[in-house]
Amino acid sequence: MAKALLLFSEGLDSILAGLILKREQIEVCAVRFITPFFGWKYRENPQLYFEKIKDFGFDEGLLLDITEDFLEILRKPAHGYGDQANPCIDCKILFLRKAKELLSQIGVDFIATGEVVGQRPMSQNRNALELIEREAGVEGLLLRPLSAKLLKETIPEKKGIIKRENLYSHWGRGRAFQLTLAKEFGLKEIPTPAGGCLLTDPIIGERVLRVIKERRPLTPLTAQLLVMGRHYFDDGSWFVLGRNEEENRRIKELCLGTLPLFTLSEPSPILAVIEGNSSEVSLFQHLLKHSRKAQKKLEEGGEVSLVQVEA
Ligand code: SF4
Repeated sequence: MAKALLLFSEGLDSILAGLILKREQIEVCAVRFITPFFGWKYRENPQLYFEKIKDFGFDEGLLLDITEDFLEILRKPAHGYGDQANPCIDCKILFLRKAKELLSQIGVDFIATGEVVGQRPMSQNRNALELIEREAGVEGLLLRPLSAKLLKETIPEKKGIIKRENLYSHWGRGRAFQLTLAKEFGLKEIPTPAGGCLLTDPIIGERVLRVIKERRPLTPLTAQLLVMGRHYFDDGSWFVLGRNEEENRRIKELCLGTLPLFTLSEPSPILAVIEGNSSEVSLFQHLLKHSRKAQKKLEEGGEVSLVQVEA
């Protein structure tokens, strides 16, 4: 049986691409690339992903952490950013290069994605799709089942692994076609079109671009911190505070032993100093702003102090 490597974003389009392949009797291995900006929840709970794969009837699932390579392109994307800090064209090229590396390793015949011609102005117009394919070195190996009839014939079509007439010629941003197809496949829940990339979030996007522009450290650790908390940037210094219990727990877990961590002697957030040397007075003031209990204690004439968090 022929086998395809599906680039799976969990959005409706990539689900449909996988279901079309299954309908054509092709084995599907669904790969999810993960970084702190997308798919990261599966780092802690990969089982969640494999259950999802099973629910859709795909044969195998694969999770691949590509953070280091992704940060390289995020710092300086050759093809620029989208609306926010999302370097979509370079990101897709990276995904496909990684997918190509996997082809022989896992014995796969071709790569498939849920991309639709003309769906996104920047990264999914016909020229961009061709450029992505060329730069990733996967020409002929990449099948986009939803728009295949609008694109050049691919190797799996030429070899008769999949019949071109059973593929589609969908074009543009409209969703009616996908919704009809989803109904035909009996999908009970319709997910959002894309898989939720935090780099497209205006607040996180602006923060990430600032860090890049000011040449602050962008590492796997700071990338994880960038998607949570309240961030404060002063000349040369940068720190983050948790906004709730969960974020405080995560900041502590990530930074303990690596970055200086502070809190107050009264219940208050956890603050991690990512860069620079802020004065203790400044750290105290920032923490105090977010602790009602500490403010109350001071109003009542009590004492509140800055506490270094240790293991
Ligand atoms: S939205 Fe995010 S995950 Fe999707 S292609 Fe763009 S950068 Fe990559």
